[in-house]
Amino acid sequence: MGREIVMTECSGKLCGYAFSRDAETPTEDEIRYSVPGDGGCDSGDGSCWQAYFAQARDSRFHPKELQDATAQIKKILDPLVEGPDGRTLSFVHTPFGTLLAWIKHGQRFAGPVVTSASTPEEIAAALGLINVGYDKPASASPEQSSV
Ligand SMILES: [Zn+2]
Repeated sequence: MGREIVMTECSGKLCGYAFSRDAETPTEDEIRYSVPGDGGCDSGDGSCWQAYFAQARDSRFHPKELQDATAQIKKILDPLVEGPDGRTLSFVHTPFGTLLAWIKHGQRFAGPVVTSASTPEEIAAALGLINVGYDKPASASPEQSSV
């Protein structure tokens, strides 16, 4: 059956993401257009889960189509569970959808962080989300876009 996945201490419902910013005291434009920093977790709000799919017997809510989909997803994700520098593949739940990310579980950042309690705009910027209405204009810098 595939390899065994060791769930980290903070996996499951007691994990929450915390993304660092690049600057200690970012300006409004830096928040809006910042390059993503790094991803850790330190709260228990359930916004971050280790990316691991459970499998189940046939049922009305988990029929063969979903069992097959799960098997295909696991085939893709299981080789990616361990990321660089001890990071673990995780589902980061945002107001815009779920992002796959290699998270340093248990990592706390000294500076300001963006969490699930931050504004949608801050979350979109900190995670570098695209196509959610807060994208950096492709051909204009923040200074040029205000003309
Ligand atoms: Zn965690």
